[in-house]
Parts: sequence; C-alpha cells; structure tokens
Amino acid sequence: MLWLLCGPCGAMDSQALVIRIKIPDGAAVDWTVHSAPQLLFRDVLDVIGQVLPDATTTAFEYEDEDGDRITVRSDEEMKAMLSYYFSTVMEQQVNGQLIEPLQIYPRACKPPGKRNIHGLKVNTRAGAGSAPEALPSNSLKKSSAELKKILANGQMNEQDIRYRDILGHGNGGTVYKAYHVRSGKILAVKVIPLDITLELQKQIMSELEILYKCDSSYIIGFYGAFFVENRISLCTEFMDGGSLDVYRKIPEHVLGRIAVAVVKGLTYLWSLKILHRDVKPSNMLVNTRGQVKLCDFGVSTQLVNSIAKTYVGTNAYMAPERISGEQYGIHSDVWSLGISFMEIQKNQGSLMPLQLLQCIVDEESPVLPAGEFSEPFVHFITQCMKKQPKERPAPEDLMGHPFVVQYNDGNAEVVSMWVCRMLEERRAQGAQ
Ligand code: ATP
Ligand code: MG
Repeated sequence: MLWLLCGPCGAMDSQALVIRIKIPDGAAVDWTVHSAPQLLFRDVLDVIGQVLPDATTTAFEYEDEDGDRITVRSDEEMKAMLSYYFSTVMEQQVNGQLIEPLQIYPRACKPPGKRNIHGLKVNTRAGAGSAPEALPSNSLKKSSAELKKILANGQMNEQDIRYRDILGHGNGGTVYKAYHVRSGKILAVKVIPLDITLELQKQIMSELEILYKCDSSYIIGFYGAFFVENRISLCTEFMDGGSLDVYRKIPEHVLGRIAVAVVKGLTYLWSLKILHRDVKPSNMLVNTRGQVKLCDFGVSTQLVNSIAKTYVGTNAYMAPERISGEQYGIHSDVWSLGISFMEIQKNQGSLMPLQLLQCIVDEESPVLPAGEFSEPFVHFITQCMKKQPKERPAPEDLMGHPFVVQYNDGNAEVVSMWVCRMLEERRAQGAQ
C-alpha cells in the first residue's frame, strides 16, 4: 500500500496518492499517482477514459463525510477535493487507522459498456501511475448512515471519547478536539462545569433535543450531550478551519460568501423560532471544504441560565437594546451579525473595551470607513447596526440585500481555498 504524509491543505511531504476509481457496477480500480501535486483534472479524466473507454466522462465525484457526492469539474475543484482528502488522511493517521484511498466516482454522459467492467487494466502516462488492481467495492470506511446512527442514538458517552487537543476556552467552558472510538470520528467536545440539580440536568437534556432536528449545512452538526458529575459535554462536528475570530481582514469576495452562509444559518434558526443570542466571530466556524457553520446558539434556556449564573454574560457584540435590558428579538441577532463582520474587517485584533459598550447604547453606531470597503458591504453593516431594532433588515431583507445577493452563488471553493491558504500560512509561521 501507499502512503503519503501530508498537511491538510495538500502540503505533501511525500508525493504519492492512491485514487480508487469506482465503476458503476460496483468494481473499482486503484491508481497510484506518484506525483500528486502535479496532478491535473485532465489527467484524472484521461485515466477514467482508459478504465471506461465507452463512456464519455466529463466530471467525477467524491463523497464527503456525510456521504454527499461533490462534483469535480476543474483543477480548482480538484484542489479542494485533495485538501479535503488530505485532512481525512491526517485524521486517520492521528487515530492510527488504516489510511484509505481517495475514492472517486466517474460521471459519464453515456453509460459504459458492460465489457469494460471485467479484467480491468489501465495504462497511465509514463511516470504518473502504476498498474491498478480490481477491487471489491465494499469500503473500510464506516458508512455515513451507520455513523449517523451511532452518533445520533443518544449513545454518546465519556467512555467512547478520547480527548486530544484543546481548541479553545470560552466563558463557560473548554472545547476539545476529540476522537470518538466507536465511529472513528473526530469531534469537537465542549465541556462546561455546571453545579446543578438532577432535575435541571434533565431539563437541559430535553431542551437540547431540538438540536438533533436541526438539519442545515449552515449549522454545526450535533451528535449528542451527556452529563458526567458536575459537567456537561456537548459533542459536535469538528471544523478544521476553526472560528472566524482568529482571521482578520478577510478579502471581500471571501467574506461575502461567508456572510451569505451566516445569513442562511440565522434564517434557518429563525425559521425554527430559535434566536441565536450569541452571534459573534468565535461562533462562526469554517472548514477546508469551504463550509461555514454557526454554533453555540441558545436552544436551552436552562443551559444559558445556568452558565450565566457562573459567568458574567456581557459581550461587545450585544445589541444596544439588550445591553439596556430590553426585549431580545431577531433584530438583536441582526445587530450582532453586523458588528461581528465589522469587527472581523477591522485592523486591530481586539474587541472594544467593555466600558465602550455604554457608548453603543448612548451614542451613534460605529461605521466602517468608506473607501476601504465596498459600498454594498458598508451599507449592509450600517443597516444591521441601526440603533432602532425595527430599522434593521428583517430576515427576507437580509437575503435580498445587494451584498448578500452578489455573493449568493454557492461557490464554496472560494472559501475552501482561502481557509487552506490561511492554515498553510499559520503552519509555516508556527514552523519558523
Ligand atoms: P464564549 O464562551 O463567550 O461563547 P467562545 O465562543 O470563544 O466564547 P467556546 O464556545 O468555548 O468559546 O469555544 C472556544 C473555541 O473553540 C472557539 O473560539 C473555537 O475556535 C473553538 N471551537 C469551538 N467549537 C468548535 C468546532 N466545532 N470545531 C472547531 N473549533 C471549535
Ligand atoms: Mg463559542
């Protein structure tokens, strides 16, 4: 078998890679690519053409961790696929698992002739590959359905979790990168110490039930929660790009796509009558696949109250009406959305001091300097940060705002490439 050692964004120490080409009837061909960084989309189509000579293949697909098929039609999309694959290889290496080939599924315009699936042979360009072997189609990987069953069955418990790195500390607790033994999955586990009665613990668990029903690609996946002694652990999907608070001055074409995802995530929550209540950059997560997801929204009033008893709950992203103790509504989430994106684009790395919060209540809202940012972006932020809650955009107005419309093209690759580049830079800086 191969294997390559590489960074999650394709910074390969070794150059080899095995691509398993899956054929419609269930067989598969393994293709060893010795020079992965030089691999072009066209090369892959060439090889597929040799495996399936009767089919006109114009694209291929790979499966993400949820089992969804992602189409690859260009070099850029292939880079995103390789980034994603290499990040899964890293996970497998960390967990001491057998590293699996990259599985791809040719997308043919014309179905291949039956004869092509027997006695498979492929000759790749000189130096580009080695002879393939036909393989059974069953994968070593746990199917995503199986995984979802394990994860969503309320079967999460401390015994199955191996805590690894600390991803960060918040006001209420600590977030760990963890390995779930039974599913072989990497998770983010937030552990919050809470001294509360059994009755309150049960109430929190039942309030968290709604998280299992949240089904949006803009909301962090929830796998389960459990209490051990005086602490609750909340298990969620791990996002390898981390949260937006560590990124500054994001190019506007990237930021625009991120903002669209955040608006869609909020709109989804509002449609379920859930207010986020803690919209801020550290609760907006990104990954190398270009996904953007919201986390830490307040579905459990009891959990929010219990944490608030231990920690003072004021932050610089709160809307003026909230600081003044008035009623919280969708509009307050919209304020926090605006101030979050303003904060991300500001040069300085820190939030405004807490004493300035009172200025937000008493004085004019801060505005972004014109000239430095595009007019639609400045307008978007200004609208979200209107002092009067009713003057801020309603959900449908947010989706229709020119800044959102401009970037609402579903182009995750832009975000994916940017996250990969930032992680590479961070790694390079760390290595210095
Ligand atoms: P607060 O407690 O005030 O909400 P916070 O959001 O920074 O602040 P936590 O929610 O505890 O604090 O998160 C700590 C850090 O852990 C975050 O800043 C983020 O970088 C990281 N993190 C949280 N969830 C995930 C996740 N699912 N995947 C990857 N990183 C995560
Ligand atoms: Mg958080």
